[in-house]
Amino acid sequence: MTGVLYILATPIGNLEDLTLRALRILKEVQRIACEDTRQTRKLLAHYGISKPLVSYHEHNEAAACHSLVERLLAGESVALVSDAGTPLISDPGYRIVAAARERGISVVPIPGPSALLAALSASGLPTDAFHFAGFLPAKRSRRQRLLEDLAGEPATLVCYEAPHRILETLEDIERLMGPRRVVLARELTKVHEEFLTGSPSEVRASLAARPVVKGEITLLIARAEGPLGDPTPLADAVEAAMSEGLNRMDAIKAVARRRGLAKREVYQALNRP
Ligand code: SAM
Repeated sequence: MTGVLYILATPIGNLEDLTLRALRILKEVQRIACEDTRQTRKLLAHYGISKPLVSYHEHNEAAACHSLVERLLAGESVALVSDAGTPLISDPGYRIVAAARERGISVVPIPGPSALLAALSASGLPTDAFHFAGFLPAKRSRRQRLLEDLAGEPATLVCYEAPHRILETLEDIERLMGPRRVVLARELTKVHEEFLTGSPSEVRASLAARPVVKGEITLLIARAEGPLGDPTPLADAVEAAMSEGLNRMDAIKAVARRRGLAKREVYQALNRP
């Protein structure tokens, strides 16, 4: 009989955030596949568990995948964990899950913490629809393009961002996505957990006043407000964008993006008598 591959979520900071089922599975499996063995050993030591570990990460995923599938086919059960949170969510493991499924191995999720859902659920932003963008690109021009593309998305945006880039990113959000609320969730479940809320420039100012910005950050951006949310008439908004130096066409595009509208809708509003 083949073994089972468990996709097991681990704490994102507070070691108490391990479910009872996760604990039982960690004790039962023959092997644990993890990213950084030192990180996983800390968690296992906290719970008095000793198990053979096998390391997988972005750079050896193909080879690790092959040997894990062989072990599963030979009947071993394996728990796949990441350094923190839910594996595969901006973490490696996708290839292993896909390969296991292809070979008919049963893959069982053991749900638990994820920074994305922890931040979203406590943010106070609408949760009916959200778009998870993962890590924003490290290169500023690519990041700016992505923010522009996402500006009209009718959903709360959630992304992971590095502390050394967060000030630049908040500046870009203010400029490229128009006025909207952001929530910065930092160090969730840890001693210095905090939520900063406000316009991108307000949150930026509060961070910039610190000697250094540290810790793990999940950033949430409210959806475009739509025509009813912003009281400025569209014609005035286009005028304002043109006074910032944009030509008429680009101003229309920018306003459409900020309001989450199609360009056509802005044209129509401008041409209404
Ligand atoms: N798989 C993980 C999960 O389910 O949350 C995410 C892994 S990803 C490599 C790590 C990123 O998640 C961090 O750089 C940060 O942006 C976010 N993150 C992880 N832990 C966090 C925490 N305690 N508070 C806020 N954000 C966190």
